[in-house]
Amino acid sequence: MAEQAAAAIAVPDIDLRTELFVDGAFRPAASGRTFDRVSPRDGRVIAAVAEADAEDVDRAVAAARAAFEDGRWRDLHPRERRAVLRRLSELIDAHAEELALTESLDMGKPVSDARAVDLRVTVQTFDFFAEAVDKTYDQVAPTGPRTLATITREPLGVVAAIVPWNFPLMLAAWKVAPALATGNSVVLKPAEQSPLTALRLAELAAEAGVPPGVLNVVPGFGPTAGAALGRHPDVDAVTFTGSGEVGRMFMHYAAESNLKQVSLELGGKSPQVVLADAPDTATVAEAVAGGIFFNQGEVCSAGSRLLVHHSRKDELVDAVVRASEALRPGDPLDPSTTLGALVERVHLERVLGHLDAARADGADILTGGNRALEETGGFYVEPTVIDGVAPDMRIAQEEVFGPVLAVLPFDDEEEAVALANGTPYGLAASVWTRDLSKAHLMSRAIRAGTVWVNCFDASDITVPFGGYAQSGFGRDKSLHALDKYTQLKTTWIQLY
Ligand code: NAD
Repeated sequence: MAEQAAAAIAVPDIDLRTELFVDGAFRPAASGRTFDRVSPRDGRVIAAVAEADAEDVDRAVAAARAAFEDGRWRDLHPRERRAVLRRLSELIDAHAEELALTESLDMGKPVSDARAVDLRVTVQTFDFFAEAVDKTYDQVAPTGPRTLATITREPLGVVAAIVPWNFPLMLAAWKVAPALATGNSVVLKPAEQSPLTALRLAELAAEAGVPPGVLNVVPGFGPTAGAALGRHPDVDAVTFTGSGEVGRMFMHYAAESNLKQVSLELGGKSPQVVLADAPDTATVAEAVAGGIFFNQGEVCSAGSRLLVHHSRKDELVDAVVRASEALRPGDPLDPSTTLGALVERVHLERVLGHLDAARADGADILTGGNRALEETGGFYVEPTVIDGVAPDMRIAQEEVFGPVLAVLPFDDEEEAVALANGTPYGLAASVWTRDLSKAHLMSRAIRAGTVWVNCFDASDITVPFGGYAQSGFGRDKSLHALDKYTQLKTTWIQLY
């Protein structure tokens, strides 16, 4: 398939935006510093991006605060706010090819996935929340005949959105769109590994009519720019997607500063549970492989544990191994590539370290297990399936965030549920069965924010997404996401 030198495909000629976007304009960092963006496809530098630190964060927050206080955005007629966000959705759609190529170049995902998933969902997200602006109503409480008590949703003020690198634009959209729809101002900090599409998003937002100061983007590093946002006394809320370790820090930052509201979308170790009466093996195997190898396994909800009934194990594992061997890592910019590069060298080493730990713990690597395409200078790993895994092994407990599947067999449904719930996480799960009752009962028993039955990763902007347990709290997507960006006001009126 696509196993060829990355250099075979020319770098697309895109005019990348590399400066901070603050108060409606691109600006260099106050310090003048920049950091290099290295493309994971071949290890080459593609851009030098302005590096925001605490001073830039102060400026961005001040711009966001000023915009919020003077009402230039939140006091617009809802129909006008809707129109601006709809225009933004249309502009993203019009620039989808450029954005997909930028995403692929910046963080290594296959460009065909960037088009089919990241850009499609980003466009839908802005469209959905645009339409919500003038179609959500407030409430009147049943307080009795001589009173009128209204319950109204008000924006929080300045929202800091801190996002990771695995779906840079899409995850930014999941946060920015509902935050803007509800009238907040936003300071967005993209991950240092993938800042480019967020900067272009800010520019398109300005073109669509989002007023200056309402959406600011500050690329920079976590311990500087990220921490400055987390600790800022004038930030009202943090909406974070990333690792549990950093999520915890944001709770500390909030506690140490102004008790800003925090919502966290964190990692997972999602089980794909295959019961004895699951549908045909070929269908299940294809979905299981897709569930772990999509986006190189760099997916918070990746189905990284295959829990399979003993009676189906050999046949299914063989089919999953065959499906994974058909996937070969390749240049993310090649439209036929289905498995791209991992985001950066440090992450590649982390994933290889998990594989070494699995070997050291006595697990059995059935296929994959190595770095691939090293000659390109890029950060590729073979799709990997691991058997002989005990539930307490590191490979069964820790999030790898790479194309690595651990197989664990079970004897009955009770054991399957215990295994499914046997990690600190609770983001997603799938259950494969032909029995409707078993599907419902398993869905109730599994502690996860999403349970798929006879599919994996099926999704729509209309359903909420988020975690149970240490996978976080708060929900992105759907009208439920609006809860994160609004607070409820009771106004009690006595009627004489
Ligand atoms: P990360 O936690 O290292 O980084 C996420 C963001 O936090 C980045 O913008 C980073 O710059 C910032 N950050 C890092 N250190 C910081 C600090 N000390 N203070 C403040 N900010 C800091 O995560 P990552 O490696 O970019 O992403 C991978 C993780 O994200 C995985 O655990 C994955 O499961 C999770 N994730 C979760 C979801 C979800 O919706 N639940 C979606 C995608 C990714």
